Amino acid sequence: MNINEVKQILTKYDVSVKKQFGQNFLMDNNIINKICDVSNVSKEVNVIEIGPGLGFLTQELKQRANKVMCYEIDPEMVKVVTNRFENDENVIIKYQDFLKANIDNDIEKYLSDKPVIVVANLPYYITTAILIKILEESKYIKQMTVMMQLEVADRICGKPSTKDYNSLSVLMQYYTTCKLAIKVGKMCFYPEPNVDSAVVLIKHKEEILNAAVNEEYFKKFNRIVFAQRRKTLANNLKSGFGYKKELIEEILIKNNIPLTIRTEALSVEQIVHLSNEFYLAQNK
Ligand code: SAM
Repeated sequence: MNINEVKQILTKYDVSVKKQFGQNFLMDNNIINKICDVSNVSKEVNVIEIGPGLGFLTQELKQRANKVMCYEIDPEMVKVVTNRFENDENVIIKYQDFLKANIDNDIEKYLSDKPVIVVANLPYYITTAILIKILEESKYIKQMTVMMQLEVADRICGKPSTKDYNSLSVLMQYYTTCKLAIKVGKMCFYPEPNVDSAVVLIKHKEEILNAAVNEEYFKKFNRIVFAQRRKTLANNLKSGFGYKKELIEEILIKNNIPLTIRTEALSVEQIVHLSNEFYLAQNK
């Protein structure tokens, strides 16, 4: 696929590129193939694609997978892919905002015959919302291969004591293992985005060792301890939760954690453990 071919398709279907929907079409066939390779797409899986756009990735997915179910918010793109794949029984197009979808209902209705994975070149303006929705709402999806802004990919895979490490890193690495699989330059897209991109392979952990006692509390704790990066962990806990200095010091000392530490120096396991300690101290 090259720019002229993309423009021809846009003209043929009389559709326009819409920035507000994060439309940057992936033209590079090598990258499309690599995405399918790292995802292990085969006839043994069903695939959910968020935002098929003009259908370039869909085209490869439908050849390799058992079934592909696509969610697309833009009616013009729905028109294109419905037309392109009208004779493909294994392609299901849903005209819907993915953020409003009932994912597991749809999986039970259309994709229940095989394990389900997500493969998508995401609309960047809602990357985090999409990932969190899948983590929180789907019990069936165990793997996602998703293209996103490189900066967000670095955060998701970020390690402690680096500038990329934040609450999103902790949340994602608590539930999943994340691997930056492919870096993708701007010129692979039409129109070119302003930022570089990367494909991240995300696999749900089979079992979470040392799990949070209360997940909702852990998620809140995780947000609060990173709320102000310049502040220490103790100060974030004080301002975010209003916990007393004595309680904070008691728990940090008990766990051999320096009182002046910043949250970014703590591992995911340490953050989960501390959230459990504070939760249990409040709910004795
Ligand atoms: N998959 C195509 C490709 O790789 O060339 C297009 C990817 S483009 C980065 C993102 C796609 O997501 C666009 O087609 C856009 O219309 C669609 N989209 C944006 N917001 C969406 C939403 N909330 N739900 C479903 N699709 C959405």
